[in-house]
Amino acid sequence: MIDYKYLAQKYDTPLYLYDFEKIENSFLSLKNAFKGRKSLIAYAVKANSNLSVLKHLASLGTGADCVSIGEVKRALLAGIPSYKIVFSGVGKRDEEIEEALKLDILYINLESEAELQRVEDIAAQLGKKARVSIRVNPNIDPKTHPYISTGLHENKFGVEIDTAKKMYLAAKKSNFLDPVGIHFHIGSQLTELEPIKEASAIVADLVRSLHKIDIEIKFFDIGGGLGIKYDNEETIKPYDYAQAILATLKGLDLTIVCEPGRYIVGDAGYFLTKVLYEKKSGDKRFIIVDGGMNDLLRPSLYNAYHKVEVIGKTGDETPADVVGPVCESGDFFAKNRPLPSTSPGDIIVVYSAGAYGFVMSSNYNTRPRPAEVALFKGSDRLIRKRETFEDIIKNEIELMDE
Ligand SMILES: *Cc1c(COP(=O)(O)O)cnc(C)c1O
Repeated sequence: MIDYKYLAQKYDTPLYLYDFEKIENSFLSLKNAFKGRKSLIAYAVKANSNLSVLKHLASLGTGADCVSIGEVKRALLAGIPSYKIVFSGVGKRDEEIEEALKLDILYINLESEAELQRVEDIAAQLGKKARVSIRVNPNIDPKTHPYISTGLHENKFGVEIDTAKKMYLAAKKSNFLDPVGIHFHIGSQLTELEPIKEASAIVADLVRSLHKIDIEIKFFDIGGGLGIKYDNEETIKPYDYAQAILATLKGLDLTIVCEPGRYIVGDAGYFLTKVLYEKKSGDKRFIIVDGGMNDLLRPSLYNAYHKVEVIGKTGDETPADVVGPVCESGDFFAKNRPLPSTSPGDIIVVYSAGAYGFVMSSNYNTRPRPAEVALFKGSDRLIRKRETFEDIIKNEIELMDE
């Protein structure tokens, strides 16, 4: 049991807690699901990029899926070797591509013909051969929230099959490109297996046709997206996930690269916030807390559901909204939830806050970002200091009076 009250007192609120054992267990369950096959679990750094989290994952042998050169640097700093790092994302600056090539990472995921050209030019300037993979958009509806759907032609990600073929041919001809991988990622918080299966089958067929023309793809990158339980949704079991993918790869000898983010860290995170007071507005009951949308954006951004609990309180439950102090009506953590009556100082836990939590935080309303604490082997350790007012303003330059 986690002593939320003690931790809230020791580190103050709002606060993020990460259970490192849970992170480890999630990683192992996925790694084991692909046992017997060559596989690389490349953790999607964007989900939670705290260096201590990355270091813990590095010690378990994970790779990293990065979407900026900053994330690549974080991964390296945490001890993830360059040959386990992939670089994805729909827009990469020249400097980022150059640095990725110099760092000799596993491969760069290309998302357009224009990008292929850019990477080829930069590799030529550096006299290097760039290992690349192409992100294919299989035009599959992942049946998730539209903001986190990425595998439809209407989304900005990847290229169509025909374009991909053209790109592979161009890459094969080039002296500066080495097409080693193929990639797809159809969305996030996936809870249905069927769309993943369909996408994988489409991409596997493309691999077969590429093999026929001597384009030897080695890495089959299935992206991330495995969903977790926020409420009572059914989720995909790692074993079923692996079996579904492997079934589409009959006769192909490929290394599977998987890029889970949320699945690894989501469940392992808790957001603690303190009750400031309650108020009524007509029939509506509000619990006002010291955490806000600047600390945990998911409810405001995606209307995402997170389980919440008032620690140590029982008794009659009546519907309430849990809202933050930020000056936006969208600043809420929970709506219309049966909750016991609260007093100032009570601690509320927001569950499943380990992924896309702190990393999406901001200083909106000049609010310092929260501290982060690791729970590891029975002890708690600060892994990121709470920001101060001075931290927030330190890069601002005052306009001088003339
Ligand atoms: C965001 C992203 C992931 C991770 O998604 P999760 O839903 O957190 O697993 C993996 N691969 C790519 C390319 C991404 O953009």
